[in-house]
Amino acid sequence: MEGFFSKKETKSTSRPGGKVLSCASCGLYKDCQSPKMKPFGEFKKGILNIGEAPGEVEDARDRQWQGKAGRLLKKTYRRLGIDLFEDCLNINAVNCRPPDNDTPSVYQIDCCRSVLVRKVIDEYQPKVIVLLGNAAIQSFLGDRWEGDMGGITKWRGWKIPDQDFKCWVVPVFHPSYVQREDQEHVNLVWTNDLKTAVSAASEPWERTPKPSVEYLEDLSPLAKYRPHIAEMAFDYETTGLKPHAEGHRIICAAMTVAEDRTFAFMIPKSRKARQPLLDLLTDERIQKWAHNMKYEDAWSFEQFRIQVANWVWDSMLAAHILDNRKYITGLKFQTYVNFGIVDYSSEVAPYLRAKGKGGNAINSVIAFLAKPGGQKKLLEYCAKDSFYQFLLAKKQMQIMEYTDLPF
Ligand code: URA
Repeated sequence: MEGFFSKKETKSTSRPGGKVLSCASCGLYKDCQSPKMKPFGEFKKGILNIGEAPGEVEDARDRQWQGKAGRLLKKTYRRLGIDLFEDCLNINAVNCRPPDNDTPSVYQIDCCRSVLVRKVIDEYQPKVIVLLGNAAIQSFLGDRWEGDMGGITKWRGWKIPDQDFKCWVVPVFHPSYVQREDQEHVNLVWTNDLKTAVSAASEPWERTPKPSVEYLEDLSPLAKYRPHIAEMAFDYETTGLKPHAEGHRIICAAMTVAEDRTFAFMIPKSRKARQPLLDLLTDERIQKWAHNMKYEDAWSFEQFRIQVANWVWDSMLAAHILDNRKYITGLKFQTYVNFGIVDYSSEVAPYLRAKGKGGNAINSVIAFLAKPGGQKKLLEYCAKDSFYQFLLAKKQMQIMEYTDLPF
């Protein structure tokens, strides 16, 4: 869904030109019978459903899910042992009926988020939030997600331990879509996703550990630790995507060697000072993990003239093997859907994107380093990348029952 406003504007409660995010500026309340529909349901199992908007029947009765889509949702929940109005609380991304049942605009969703949706989440503290369709995704993530959000097909089915709201978040198709499609497999996928949501209500929410980072001034501690390191997820920040053109270099690196140990450092200028890093990379005994390993592999070769030894896991490839949908293998997306952490990169990411065309273009990371606190922020960002890669690889290995014993 395309936004009409920049992220910065979406995060503020007002718009350029004085337009604020309020019921008055949205205006939908003026043209419906049941304005600002109140949340409805007894919420016995702690499930909050966020739909799109009230339709004609809902508007006439001042209550959510009263029409055809609601009947399907009620029936499907009932099969899963859940009563829609006793066990859940129900709201919509937009809580006034749009004229002619129009799809709500991003602006209307932004207004309703700040006026009602966030307040309901804060007040009720649900165990599970079920996001039904695109508008609900936009409502829940629109002011937190950086970059293209994509639609419900990419989001559905994940069980996300959202770290900001401290609850499970399960996006599912909107029941109107399931009805329109009228296909057995769509209904099956939808029912399974709702089942995931229902079971999440009785599972403890998972807190994601924070990285514990040692920022190294020189690399000698790496030499000291090397005998104790069995595996390392590592990540570089570089001046561009591909290392082959003139002037490119690796700026900094981070490696996570255990859940409670991540190292981050600027790449030393001399080969001698880099040696502890090169020794780790070429150590046959130490497993290497990365997210898109050909990137770290190619940069290591071009810049250091070494061959990384013992590549074992590429969490990007594994993400694709586990789920072959489009646009889901990026580390930022995987970090959110697996560990509930939204947007740890928005300050740095624009500087890492090269403006020029072609794989060899140079980005603006050097300009970022020149900003106050730039170096520390870049290292923090790099450390998080390697840490989430590590967590992701571990989780994938468990799911895929990976073992490094010989076959
Ligand atoms: N569709 C929705 O998205 N919400 C309702 O409350 C009813 C129908």
